[in-house]
Amino acid sequence: MTAPSVVPLPLWDLLIHLSGGRCQCAGQCGNKHAAGQGRCEHENGGFISKHTGPVRLLAAPKDPHALILPAHQQAKLSACDLAAWCRPCHDNARARAQREHRKALAELQADSTDALF
Ligand SMILES: [Zn+2]
Ligand SMILES: [Zn+2]
Repeated sequence: MTAPSVVPLPLWDLLIHLSGGRCQCAGQCGNKHAAGQGRCEHENGGFISKHTGPVRLLAAPKDPHALILPAHQQAKLSACDLAAWCRPCHDNARARAQREHRKALAELQADSTDALF
């Protein structure tokens, strides 16, 4: 099952074309991608492993922090704010952004608690 894309298909086609059909992650997912000189080597239609189907790159925000926006807000982004992501990079980058977001919120709350005393 693939999640429904928030991006209309012509835009997806454009992004895949601009990215050369290759995941544009340059370490935002936490993997340094040393094998690909700092960029993920997963290509649309390629295989990550023998056990998974062909890679279907996702059109998603280039800025990992925008990955945690709700779908309708992501849908407002234009092609220059989007990048091609493979599924593992997308999911890991989003998980990292979520962790950072929660940490920032917790620090914000801690700060305001301090200010009370
Ligand atoms: Zn990737
Ligand atoms: Zn990556």
